[in-house]
Amino acid sequence: MGSSRRAGFVAAAKRIVFLGPPNSGKGTQAAGLAEELAIPAISTGDMLRQSVAEGSALGRRVEGVMARGELVDDDLMADVVRQRLAKPDAQKGFLLDGYPRTQAQAATLNGILEETGSVLDHTVLIDAPEDVLVARALGRGRVDDQEDVVRERLRLYREKTEPLNTYYDSQGLLRRIDGDQGVDEVAAAIRAAVGAAAE
Ligand code: AMP
Repeated sequence: MGSSRRAGFVAAAKRIVFLGPPNSGKGTQAAGLAEELAIPAISTGDMLRQSVAEGSALGRRVEGVMARGELVDDDLMADVVRQRLAKPDAQKGFLLDGYPRTQAQAATLNGILEETGSVLDHTVLIDAPEDVLVARALGRGRVDDQEDVVRERLRLYREKTEPLNTYYDSQGLLRRIDGDQGVDEVAAAIRAAVGAAAE
């Protein structure tokens, strides 16, 4: 009684964060799930790369940091994310890919959600063994994909971002997905975990 779940209909979760190391496949998976749920996939990495490509003031500020595989500072990222989440298309929900990456960013996101009276529905962690992640990165050919930069991005992930898994897990929000499988298997596991199984 009172459940919105019935055959053929699953109430879609609408505020989702994707977590995981670089090259875990989360970008691809995030885009696919967001399209299915009709919510915007917000990749902070894509937004920053676009700013760099456009040569905007933001792009010029972050270009060197990104090329070295370091993290853009939290205050700058707070502005970027706050502005993006304020746009009309994000009001009904969103899928964040690549944010938050630090404890401070997680606190910023909490603040933004509190202001709008909303909460996260899920955080989806896609993980894979380190050698798989490095091999994938080296096969991809992006400017920040040279091996030393790849290693630095992974090191920063372990140091700054991985602790967020524990944080979100303690809130009952973390869904762990084995990213060392084919794209379709990962996609199915994600849908099962967030209750968005395609019929
Ligand atoms: P990504 O495509 O998510 O791997 O991001 C590419 C690069 O953009 C990262 O290596 C960082 O330099 C920068 N970046 C993206 N998102 C963030 C974030 N939330 N905080 C800090 N830096 C970020």
